[in-house]
Amino acid sequence: MAALGNVKNTAEIIQKYQFRFQKKFGQNFLVDGNILDKIIASAQLTKEDCVLEIGPGIGTMTQYLAEEAREVVAVEIDKNLIPILQDTLSAYDNVTIINEDILKVDINRIAREHNGGRPVKVVANLPYYITTPIIMALFESRVPLQSITVMVQKEMADRMQVGPGTKDYGALSLAVQYYAEPEVITRVPASCFMPRPKVDSTVIRLTRYEKPPVEAADEKYLFAVIRASFNQRRKTLANGLANAGNLGVDRSVVEETLAEMGLSSMVRGETLTLEQFAELSGRLAEKKG
Ligand code: SAM
Repeated sequence: MAALGNVKNTAEIIQKYQFRFQKKFGQNFLVDGNILDKIIASAQLTKEDCVLEIGPGIGTMTQYLAEEAREVVAVEIDKNLIPILQDTLSAYDNVTIINEDILKVDINRIAREHNGGRPVKVVANLPYYITTPIIMALFESRVPLQSITVMVQKEMADRMQVGPGTKDYGALSLAVQYYAEPEVITRVPASCFMPRPKVDSTVIRLTRYEKPPVEAADEKYLFAVIRASFNQRRKTLANGLANAGNLGVDRSVVEETLAEMGLSSMVRGETLTLEQFAELSGRLAEKKG
């Protein structure tokens, strides 16, 4: 099987299998060898590594990953791509294809079965319609992870890196910055994909911290507080937290706690730093019913 990662061979495969792109699955296949080389180099793979690829498509990046890593597990939702993957990856005996929705599959189990529970590396050209839930799930389900090297919509990469006080700041920014160090690898124009998406993309690497930059006694509660704070963007933080229903604190407790921290009861979630969220959630956790 000829190497993919260029327009000609990709078009041939699409033609051979009469494959129909499905918009609902965010199918934009990479057809640029330089970008593929950059992604693979930035993922820093070794022959020890087990890679989890999310959405292999027709197997373009999977071929590159299979060359560099010990093992690749690729999770693809579209059943029409499975026979194509069996063809394009037939030369490799170190690739496992799983026909599943990445948001439903047990990733911890994959890490256990394929890598003895040791940290895996995630490498993917992500389906853009579910970038945030995928990244949040990878971090919050405590999957053993070394790094996540992903192609995302440029705006999503911006969100992952911004601090308080900007419109892009939210739960994704805080989750990324709590769990990992983000580093932009390269910008990718729409012309590198088939079909072309409407927006430009960015490759970003998130290297998992051994220890988060702030201390949180209860990470689950911290992220419940963060989610509630951004649920109602136009409302105050106090409103968001008091209305959340799953935090076990009422309005008076929220306002009292904000006052203890020297914050106004009118403060909005997007102005708080990660440190402040950690402190706020720690104080609320002590008082919750
Ligand atoms: N990796 C290929 C490439 O770079 O050419 C394809 C990338 S394409 C942007 C995203 C891929 O994710 C598609 O193959 C799509 O079918 C798959 N996908 C979409 N939603 C998914 C989900 N929930 N779980 C697993 N794969 C999914």
